[in-house]
Amino acid sequence: MLNLISKCGIDCGTCPWGPFPRESMSESEFEEFKARAKQVLGFTPIRTACVTCQTPDDQIPKTSKLPSKRCLIRQCVDKSDIENCGYCSRFPCETLKGTADAWKRDVIEAKLGASLSDVDYRRFVEPFEGLRRLTVLRESLNPSEFAEPPKVSAKTKLVTFPKNLILTEVEHFKQVYTLIKKIWNSSFGLQNTDTFAQYHTLEKQRTHVLRFLWIFGTYGKLDGDGSFLVVDPKTYLASRGSEKQLAIWSFLKGVVFKELSSLGVCCERVPLTGVKIADLTTCTGYVRNKGWVMSISFETQIGGLDALWALQSYCKKLDQKFGKKAFQQFCIADMGFLFEF
Ligand code: SF4
Ligand code: SF4
Repeated sequence: MLNLISKCGIDCGTCPWGPFPRESMSESEFEEFKARAKQVLGFTPIRTACVTCQTPDDQIPKTSKLPSKRCLIRQCVDKSDIENCGYCSRFPCETLKGTADAWKRDVIEAKLGASLSDVDYRRFVEPFEGLRRLTVLRESLNPSEFAEPPKVSAKTKLVTFPKNLILTEVEHFKQVYTLIKKIWNSSFGLQNTDTFAQYHTLEKQRTHVLRFLWIFGTYGKLDGDGSFLVVDPKTYLASRGSEKQLAIWSFLKGVVFKELSSLGVCCERVPLTGVKIADLTTCTGYVRNKGWVMSISFETQIGGLDALWALQSYCKKLDQKFGKKAFQQFCIADMGFLFEF
């Protein structure tokens, strides 16, 4: 029998992105359905229906954007040789919760500031309540049916700090190096980072935090008494590279600001005069492209102003030396080339 529960517990049988709800709709009904989905969820179902999650990778047509073969949960479940996360001994990990617990009735109602009708709830929200669905499934299972996901061992790619660097400011570069090293050594509060999904979630979060620092090191302007670096929204948003989540306010606040502040980097999004906090974010949770500036400063224990200067100097030198590959070298704290300057 066709299994219509996705690997993260979403109901592919009723999912607005899947093939089934639209089967009986006329073209105009589907247009109305898509428009209502956008109002409720903030996203529009794609025209070419997803072929559903349990479809093996080699049977997903090249023309299908969904399901994504790169989905971490999908890959983790496949590597664990289980049907869905409900059978995993680490259930529920943060990667799963980030997807399967994100769209649920209370969250969507709070975002809309209004109650959902039962019809809207059933059509657009209930399919996505994957964590709830898997929790019910799990209660019916015997623990002997749980599987241990295969372990992934952490690899650090960090380059060691050069021994013979003769620069008057070497201590300040060392402070920047130490900050990057601490970012590498942090678990970002994640558990189960020996599993495929969590290991890659950690790697992604680390790269996002490093990109955030890189943006300030490369494009930040010293402001006020010179104690903090500031970037404007257009520069910030245009400089995110592959780290697109840096535009999601909840991710910025809950992961990037939180992690960096624990390491002594103060981060702030400051509204421009007359702009209300509520107007800084779109209804889908993205930071708007105007109305604010972002700033960072370093606390004294991580080097203060001198380290902030060294961050900018390091990023500039990386850019001169490596061009498009400069961010990659920044991520591994490659400072061996500094003697060339
Ligand atoms: S988008 Fe996800 S939940 Fe929806 S049909 Fe595809 S795999 Fe299933
Ligand atoms: S580790 Fe997380 S994503 Fe992987 S199978 Fe277990 S619950 Fe699912």
